[in-house]
Amino acid sequence: MSVPLDPDLSARIAENLQAVRQRLAKAASVAERDAASVSLVAVSKMHTADPIRAALETGHRVFGENRVQEAVDKWPVLKDTFPDACLHLIGPLQTNKVRDAVTLFDVIETVDRPKLAAALADEMAKQSRHLPCFIQVNTGEEPQKAGVLPADSDTFIAACRDTYGLNVAGLMCIPPQDEEPALHFAFLREVANRNEVTGLSMGMSADFELAVELGATHVRLGTAVFGDRPKTP
Ligand SMILES: *Cc1c(COP(=O)(O)O)cnc(C)c1O
Repeated sequence: MSVPLDPDLSARIAENLQAVRQRLAKAASVAERDAASVSLVAVSKMHTADPIRAALETGHRVFGENRVQEAVDKWPVLKDTFPDACLHLIGPLQTNKVRDAVTLFDVIETVDRPKLAAALADEMAKQSRHLPCFIQVNTGEEPQKAGVLPADSDTFIAACRDTYGLNVAGLMCIPPQDEEPALHFAFLREVANRNEVTGLSMGMSADFELAVELGATHVRLGTAVFGDRPKTP
């Protein structure tokens, strides 16, 4: 068993979570949506196990990490203690990390190319772990960013379903930093609607209320839950 957490840390994380849930509830109510239809993915990247444990001890269960190796270093112990924790991969996935990713994660949010979709399908079959997948769309067409291009998204979604047999649970986007996120959220929703995809992972600490207004089913919140990120994990 691990030592008890610093009570100040526990209190701070509990307060942050409560404040964020209140804001989520308000945004849902403004949008005339059920607050329970939006899942809060607490993004714990770069944070140590202690603040994550603090969040787990409040009863929170859904988390996001963006690096496979970092998650492999932190999460197996946490999952031993909290087996119902649900871990989303929200960062780019290299095919050589697919095995570790399928073992540890519960949702893969960053499927964005055929080679990766094929590798995931293979590995999920091997491990009999058929994880829900989100397809990341590079809505801003940014060359440095992961994600399928908008023009290729319908074809890729169909291939993920029909060719690779993946469970396409949703779409995910990270809008460009200097653009109005509403346009990107609305665009992602449109792609989801016309492909009959139900999940929408969009909205981060700075813009999640807007994302809820535009139909987000998952918001990915790091800073709002854990505070500023340390520079190294
Ligand atoms: C880090 C990260 C987040 C959380 O960002 P905050 O602004 O701290 O809420 C959300 N999504 C992705 C893909 C991230 O990498």
